Formats: sequence, C-alpha cells, structure tokens
Amino acid sequence: TFTAMVIDAVDGKPKGAFREISIADLPDNDVLVEIAYSTLNYKDGLAISGKGRIARRMPMIGGIDLSGTVIESRSPEWKAGDKVVLNGWGLSETEWGAFGRYQRVKPEWLIRLPDAFSMEQAMAIGTAGYTAALCVDALEKWGSIKPGEGEVLVTGAAGGVGSVAIALLAARGYNVTASTGRPETHDYLASLGASNFIDRAVLAEKGGPLQKERWTGGIDSVGSTTLVNALSQTMRGGAIAACGLAGGADLPGTVLPHILRAVTLIGVDSVIATREQRLSAWARLARDLDPAKLSDITTTEPMSNLPQLAEDIIAGKIRGRVVIDVRK
Ligand code: NAP
Repeated sequence: TFTAMVIDAVDGKPKGAFREISIADLPDNDVLVEIAYSTLNYKDGLAISGKGRIARRMPMIGGIDLSGTVIESRSPEWKAGDKVVLNGWGLSETEWGAFGRYQRVKPEWLIRLPDAFSMEQAMAIGTAGYTAALCVDALEKWGSIKPGEGEVLVTGAAGGVGSVAIALLAARGYNVTASTGRPETHDYLASLGASNFIDRAVLAEKGGPLQKERWTGGIDSVGSTTLVNALSQTMRGGAIAACGLAGGADLPGTVLPHILRAVTLIGVDSVIATREQRLSAWARLARDLDPAKLSDITTTEPMSNLPQLAEDIIAGKIRGRVVIDVRK
C-alpha cells in the first residue's frame, strides 16, 4: 500500500484526507507509473479544501500533474523505464490523480519528460507553468504582441501561472507589466523580467468600457473585473489570453472593446489541450525558461503538508510554484 491524498464526501461536502491505497485498487489503465513528484495548483487547493467542486466522483485521488517512471505498460507506446510527464486530462476530476506513489494512466495522456528538465523541474513547471506557455503560444499565434514594442499585461503575477508567464515573455523580449496585490514581490517579479508594475486593486475596481489603450496583449489568471478592465485597456486588434478565476468566475463587462476595437478574448484550457499544443508548450518551456529562474520560483514540500498548502494557495499566500514530493 501507499499513502494518497483522497478527496471524499464528509457530511455531504468534498474534503481531502490521507488514506492507504493498494496498487490493486488503481483503475485498469494501461500504463503503471511510479510517481516521483506532483505539484500544488490553485485547482488542488480548491479540491483538497473543498472550496470548489473539482472531484466529479468520489472517492477521488487528488493531484493534476505528475512526473515519474513507467514501471509496467500494456501499450506499445511506452515501456518500463520511460520517464514521463502528465498534466491535466481530468486527473483529480474524473480520473484518479497524482497525490500518491503510483497511478495507472492512459498511454495517450503521457508525454516524454523533456531532456531539458529533471523530474523535479518538470513539476516546478507543472500545469501552471505549462498553461502559461499555452497562453504565450496563443498570443503569439494571434499576432498582436511584438518583442520590444508596447506592453504585455500579466495579472496574478506572483502566482504560478503569472510567474512563469513573465519569465517566458521576458525571455522573448516582450515588455511585461505585472499586476500583483503583493508589493513585496516586486523585486522577485523584476528578477523574472517584469519591467512595470500595477497594483491589482486598481484593476479590480470597476472601470469604463473603453479605457485608455495600454496593452498589446495580456495573460489573465484572475477573471472577473480584472479581466474586464484588461480587455477595456487593450489596444485595437490586441488580445487577452484568459485562463483563470483567482479573482472570480464572473465577467461583468460589455462587448464594446470587442466590437469597437476588435479586441479578442482567447480562452485557454490546459486540461484537454491537444498533444500538439502540449508539445509546443513544453518546447517553449525547454527553450525559454532559464533553470536558475525556475529554481527561484520553486519550493519543494512533502506531500504531508498538502492540507495547509491547499488553504494557503486559496488565500493567495503562495509565491511561484510548489513541487510536491509524494514520497514524504
Ligand atoms: P496561484 O499560484 O494561486 O496564483 C493566483 C494569483 O492570482 C495569486 O498569486 C494572486 O496574485 C492572484 N489572486 C489571488 N486571489 C486574487 C483575488 N481575489 N483578486 C485578484 N487577484 C488574486 O494559482 P495558479 O496555479 O497560478 O492558477 C491561477 C489561476 O489560473 C487559477 O484560477 C487556476 O484555476 C487557473 N488555471 C487555469 C488553467 C486552465 O487550464 N485554464 C490552468 C492552470 C491554472 P498576486 O499575489 O500577484 O496578486
């Protein structure tokens, strides 16, 4: 048996707790992986604390990301000894996840661990970092952002998605304005490559539907009024890639930026992204993410600390990325 973080109903509400699981209990998927590391994402905070309905069936093993080694495979695609990464695919929602020593997964969910990263580094990136890369890919594909020209806005800047997004954008020469509610993180964000700062309270306040044009593009992990203001301040033809709801799931705005300035709202979903999108995002991370910066962003914690870490990430107290050592 091994210890896993299991989300189950307590008085009708989902809540995470540690439980002993046997390999024989795992789902009958084709690839058995020995997990080395997982991560803490905002979604894990919601799942473990029960503050959001993430698990769609219970009991559910939490954890949306893993790096590890294949130990058994019934698929020709993978063999024992292969080093692999998995992000999303419904883990911790509809499929048993990564907060434990072993998991049986579907072959098509896995990608090979990129040569550029160790197992721990891949999880320092995790879903948050890979989503940041999907967002930069989406903005570049849209084409409104230009290295060295204009400003790109990153909201939720000191969080996981925000920190990696800043590092990736700065590496390609974009000028980055970071929106954060934590002024004490300015030095940290500047070291990642942010050149300007904006207090998140300013973006959280309701503003006019068409404000002064400031951004050629943006990456938003906050949602709600922050996203509405970001759109209202985007330059003609620009785009905001939206991936999160740390400030709320509502969108209290107007169509005016879209119909009068041709501003685009690009939705980014990391969970069911195609293999092609995943490989492109990981290739960007391998090319542009400086390992020294990645280590500045990262802390590693034992799995036994998950209950407290879940509360901390929902309270907005986590800086950068947290790797979870599932052996401890
Ligand atoms: P995180 O590390 O907790 O970062 C979120 C950041 O948002 C915080 O660090 C904070 O930044 C800011 N924030 C928190 N509460 C806020 C509030 N009430 N108002 C305004 N800003 C607030 O979480 P994460 O793992 O980076 O995830 C960020 C968001 O993206 C989450 O909503 C997550 O669910 C979502 N996400 C979505 C996908 C997808 O596939 N679409 C993938 C990954 C993540 P400052 O302290 O700098 O202000």
